[in-house]
Amino acid sequence: MSASPMATTPHAGKVRRRFLERLKQAGVTDPRVLRAFAEVPRHLLIPEALRDRAYQETPIPIGEGQTISAPGVVASMTMALQLEGHERVLEIGTGSGYQAAILARLASEVVSIERIPRLAASARSALDRFGVTNVVVFLGDGTRGRPDLAPFDRIVVTAGGPEIPRPLLEQLSPEGMLVGPFGPRGHQKLTRVRRGPNGGFKGEVLGECDFVDLIGQNGWQR
Ligand code: SAH
Repeated sequence: MSASPMATTPHAGKVRRRFLERLKQAGVTDPRVLRAFAEVPRHLLIPEALRDRAYQETPIPIGEGQTISAPGVVASMTMALQLEGHERVLEIGTGSGYQAAILARLASEVVSIERIPRLAASARSALDRFGVTNVVVFLGDGTRGRPDLAPFDRIVVTAGGPEIPRPLLEQLSPEGMLVGPFGPRGHQKLTRVRRGPNGGFKGEVLGECDFVDLIGQNGWQR
């Protein structure tokens, strides 16, 4: 991806500096993560009429009743994944493609699953326009994961489910990590689960959150 899409925004420099400053204040310290946020043109992933809000700390509707999470939320999930660059990552809920584009810069390969055809298609074309080549987008029910492509070093669930889908835990590599929002609608707990080197799982709660529904066989039944 070149820096050019970002550079085409009016006042791009100032808006971007403020955006990065806010992420830093919110505790995003990893320079690789900050660089990824500086380079992905968030404004090109949201409806044109809402573009002036692109770099504010707010979720934005992307159609089909879905939203792109606020940048700070994407940043905390990204930080929680502790990526070093060599990982294979599975993302559930491609949405706009924003989180996938960030992950693409911080991991070696991203498999992303979206259940709504129109979103999967527009995310794919945006990623192509940005020149992102290490993300594959699949249409389907992400709560089943992709056993045929497992194991994954990291799994990130970007929609809120009642509980952690069991198949996803099974598709984690030894010492892999899953991050996602789980619990009742409207107030989930952002959770991180690590798989031990010899199997076994350890979970921790990172914070409270409110995501759109994870809908599927191992999520909400609509
Ligand atoms: N990561 C996205 C966030 C989008 S919101 C971004 O950066 O923009 C969550 C997305 O999860 C929505 O697009 C929704 O359609 C999708 N989703 C919900 N349940 C799903 C499931 N079972 N499988 C795949 N995608 C799902």
